[in-house]
Amino acid sequence: MKGTLKIATLFNIPVFLHWSFPLIFLYIIFLGNQIDAGIQGIACLSILFIIVFFCVVLHEYGHALTARRYGVKTRDIILSPIGGVARLERIPSRPIEEFKVAIAGPAVNVVIALILLPLVYFLRKDGLTIVHPDPLVAMSLWQNLAAYVLGTNVMLVLFNMIPAFPMDGGRVLRALLARKMDRVKATKIAYIVAQFCALGFIVYGIISANYIVFAIAIFVIFTSRFEWKNVEREGLLKGKTVNDVMLPISAKLYRDQSIQEAIDHTHSEQDNFLVFNRNEKVVGVLFGRFIQHAVKENDLISPVEKYRSNTWEEISNHYPLDNAIALFQQRGYGIVPIMDQGELVGQLDMKRLNAYVQNL
Ligand SMILES: [Zn+2]
Repeated sequence: MKGTLKIATLFNIPVFLHWSFPLIFLYIIFLGNQIDAGIQGIACLSILFIIVFFCVVLHEYGHALTARRYGVKTRDIILSPIGGVARLERIPSRPIEEFKVAIAGPAVNVVIALILLPLVYFLRKDGLTIVHPDPLVAMSLWQNLAAYVLGTNVMLVLFNMIPAFPMDGGRVLRALLARKMDRVKATKIAYIVAQFCALGFIVYGIISANYIVFAIAIFVIFTSRFEWKNVEREGLLKGKTVNDVMLPISAKLYRDQSIQEAIDHTHSEQDNFLVFNRNEKVVGVLFGRFIQHAVKENDLISPVEKYRSNTWEEISNHYPLDNAIALFQQRGYGIVPIMDQGELVGQLDMKRLNAYVQNL
């Protein structure tokens, strides 16, 4: 991935650092200087930060390895100064599986906290309490390190269990609701809950002049809406097939015809065409952008054959529409012929597909 550095691969899942990650050390040096922490203090703050991010990595592996049990792969784990994310290839669709995958992350932090709890409680002079007037100075002292790691893990659990997308709590809520109702409705309720949470953050952020909380609220508003819109679209596409969207063949273009003849059939630059041989069989496709390329090269007399692309396949008219959309996206299709029991019955192109999805 662009702008990232691979730091490790565990369980076959690579961990990447976002380029902005080292900036946090500059910030730590800045903070350390403000409180006159000295080299020792800055080293302590840095170690605290590294341990906390190690806990975040373990949290992400909690999600990733649970997902693997349900056959869902994880592309990678990316760490940035604002946290980590395990990029799963998909969300398991069974509610109980989504529930377990979502809860596994915070569960890892619960385990870490439970391991640290007796250590901090019994081995520290002050037990679990930190007595210092300045929390930042307290954080830069070695004797408080374990207590802060414990505290941060508790915070990670509380923060992630806020029932709002994109936090894990939002997914847990949706999964629990989806056991009683269909996934679309469950997502809508989870989305509304997320908006109320965001509203609460905004009010709190303004009252306490806490801009981080305010920024989180804005983030929640947008990502929860994105999640809802995606699932809503999935719901609307359910049960639809290519038959509902396909169009009749717009123009018959033969491989030996010239680009000029293709232009004569063109209405907009995004028009793509199926290319036929003289036996009326589809042998390829012609993308609008390739026609534009030929125009730029002033090459209007060359045959369509010269600019023909092999990026296509035959699709059945009974094929589920959501699968067809995924095919277009994954394989970069612009137009495909639609077949019914070996007979050509129509065409489906990107423009039509986009318009259809937008008007759902
Ligand atoms: Zn998580």
